Amino acid sequence: MKEKEQIKNLQSDLSFGAPDSNRESAKRIAIFGSTGSIGTQALDVIAANPDKFSVEVLTAQNNDELLVHQALKFSANVVVIGDEKKYGKVKEALAATDVKVFAGEKALEEVAAMDCYDLMIAAIVGYAGLKPTLKAISNNKAIALANKETLVVAGDIVMRKAVENRVPIIPVDSEHSAIFQCLVGETRNKIEKVILTASGGPFLGRKPNYLVNVKREHALQHPNWTMGAKITIDSATLMNKGLEMIEARWLFNLKPEQIQVVIHPQSIIHSMVQFEDSSIKAQMGLPDMKLPIQYAMTFPHRIPNTFPRYDFRKPNTLTFEDPDIKTFRNLALATEVLFKGGNLPCVLNAANEIAVYAFLRNRINFLDMTDVIEKAMEHITFIEKPTLEEYFESDGEARNFSADLIKL
Ligand code: NDP
Ligand code: MG
Repeated sequence: MKEKEQIKNLQSDLSFGAPDSNRESAKRIAIFGSTGSIGTQALDVIAANPDKFSVEVLTAQNNDELLVHQALKFSANVVVIGDEKKYGKVKEALAATDVKVFAGEKALEEVAAMDCYDLMIAAIVGYAGLKPTLKAISNNKAIALANKETLVVAGDIVMRKAVENRVPIIPVDSEHSAIFQCLVGETRNKIEKVILTASGGPFLGRKPNYLVNVKREHALQHPNWTMGAKITIDSATLMNKGLEMIEARWLFNLKPEQIQVVIHPQSIIHSMVQFEDSSIKAQMGLPDMKLPIQYAMTFPHRIPNTFPRYDFRKPNTLTFEDPDIKTFRNLALATEVLFKGGNLPCVLNAANEIAVYAFLRNRINFLDMTDVIEKAMEHITFIEKPTLEEYFESDGEARNFSADLIKL
């Protein structure tokens, strides 16, 4: 069977890992990045469905207090705190329980390899999510993937390993969940293109003379979604949509020219698939990440919930327009790396992480972020077919180069 078909069959036919959660015992969940926006919403879904899910693993980087609170509330089996200095504090707070406590970057990978869970919710932000996710795939764990950077950095290797291990990667990102939902029942039908919708972020319609003065607080206000700081800035620069094009390329085995971005400020259509007979399927609903999170956790089933419903009778015009890639140059750069491939998406991602970090600390201005990424793309040696090691190296080189440039 061709690899493309294998991926499709896996994604649509497998009822992964655990026994059918609707009818049998609870699915055992590991949330990597449980204290973040996606992580806490995944816990909300679990809290509303205690018979369907149990919490096995929770991880945080710095937020020890919330991690401890979550571990107690959900009777977790294992917790990992990334910052090793906080190990003692977490251990002490959980001393009266059976919760196993680990700390540090390596522990994230070791825990990802444990047998105690069925489904990893990959909700760490940034490159840091790559290694634990790869480890989970190598250990045949199903993945509900929020951490898009994992696919941006090393999508070819990640998807190949998933196919080899017969591991489904179920998207959590709302656009990709939408496409995934549109593809259910379409296993053998050819996709002509996917249409990724983008809200346009808080600066839709603005021009560079405005953007140059934009401050962190302003950029952190997203019109439709409440999310972690990094993805909120990525949404304001449209880098998020660029990363999502690359994510879609790997998740659905598409050619770059099959991916189109359209601005849809109301965020009601979460994305669309156009098939070779010209038919277009869209997945719609109010913008609420809990739905794609829940769907990834219950796939291939749907379960009831009390989330607010979209009402077509209320006046609301749905509009669509082309993105302004002359102003939002990050999207142009991401499209370029989508086409060129190799280690360029990894370089773009690393430089972007450093640039966003610097912008959030008021070290560079909004438009400087694009310059940093562009210079890193020019500077780092192109590798057409990188190994995993070479991806790690490219990431490190691009980070160092960008940090030097900004004088971080
Ligand atoms: P947040 O910043 O809210 O949360 C990130 C989580 O990762 C936290 O638990 C954080 O711990 C942990 N973390 C941060 N840095 C590290 C590190 N170096 N090593 C290990 N863990 C770390 O992010 P979001 O929840 O917004 O986003 C998570 C991922 O999901 C991103 O890749 C994002 O692109 C994607 N996504 C998010 C959406 C959203 O609505 N938020 C929508 C679609 C995709 P601590 O709290 O202790 O810092
Ligand atoms: Mg998205």
